Amino acid sequence: MRLLVVEDDLALGNVIRRGLAEEGHAVDLVGTVAQAEEALFVDDHDLLVLDLGLPDGDGAELCRRLRAEGSQLKVLMLTARDDLSDKVGGLDAGADDYLTKPFAFPELAARVRALLRRPADTRSPVMEAAGIRLDPAAHTVWAGQIAVPLTPKEFSLLHYLMAHTGDVVSRSILLEHVWDANYDGLSNVVDVHVANLRRKLELPGSDGVIETVRGVGYRFNP
Ligand code: CA
Repeated sequence: MRLLVVEDDLALGNVIRRGLAEEGHAVDLVGTVAQAEEALFVDDHDLLVLDLGLPDGDGAELCRRLRAEGSQLKVLMLTARDDLSDKVGGLDAGADDYLTKPFAFPELAARVRALLRRPADTRSPVMEAAGIRLDPAAHTVWAGQIAVPLTPKEFSLLHYLMAHTGDVVSRSILLEHVWDANYDGLSNVVDVHVANLRRKLELPGSDGVIETVRGVGYRFNP
């Protein structure tokens, strides 16, 4: 998933970015409200980790504006403040969850996982199609009766494709949601990871689960 971290404490921001990237997410880090607005305008994010006190404004104010514009973006608010009125204010501004600094990274990671598996609709958070079962909470993938060990990027790639089952997803969309804006490695990184996924998920009768749509991208077929 593509995450945006808005945190003006650069050291903390980098810890959060690295930790969430290790969980397989594509993570962008910015330090001001203005940069956050620009990043949200340019890219389509799945979750926002938002500090409350920012040099050019208030995270709660940004959150309120996003909700006023109809944004469904999941928001986890971070703050050093620990009084009840700030928590209530943050949640009233439209945040989905709230975490007070200092926090242990595993708690942040667990809350991010919980928010990401909270479905936009009422579907089960466990995805199952074409003999493949992906559990975002447990971070496990099963092909039939066989547990398939995947790297975080492979998992994230499969998660994104399965979340868009039946849709053709372009390489650039996959790069955007599974890698990040500054990715400058191999241009065929998506194809390499898809090839690895296909190899690992190989099952009798599962050919074509991840279909190549020539010139466009990939489609996970139900
Ligand atoms: Ca701050």
